Amino acid sequence: MDLYTDLTDAQKRALKENADDLEKLRGQVEDVRREAMSRLKAAGLGNGTVVINCLICTVCEGWSEGDDRKCDSCSHRWFSHNVI
Ligand SMILES: [Zn+2]
Ligand SMILES: [Zn+2]
Repeated sequence: MDLYTDLTDAQKRALKENADDLEKLRGQVEDVRREAMSRLKAAGLGNGTVVINCLICTVCEGWSEGDDRKCDSCSHRWFSHNVI
């Protein structure tokens, strides 16, 4: 894959706007994920060697994109997974 190194102003602006939008969400997403992880740990899930791949189920063997942009392993969406 070629990297885009020679960007137009419009492309630079598009990337900057993406960065700004994603940055707005980042704090909220991190808060929700931190709380989700601690909730699972408090309930005895995800401790020690057991890896929680999905934050809303226990059957997921790891994110892999399947049909309809849902997980092939557990059918939940990427956002629910422990991959961020
Ligand atoms: Zn799942
Ligand atoms: Zn999954």
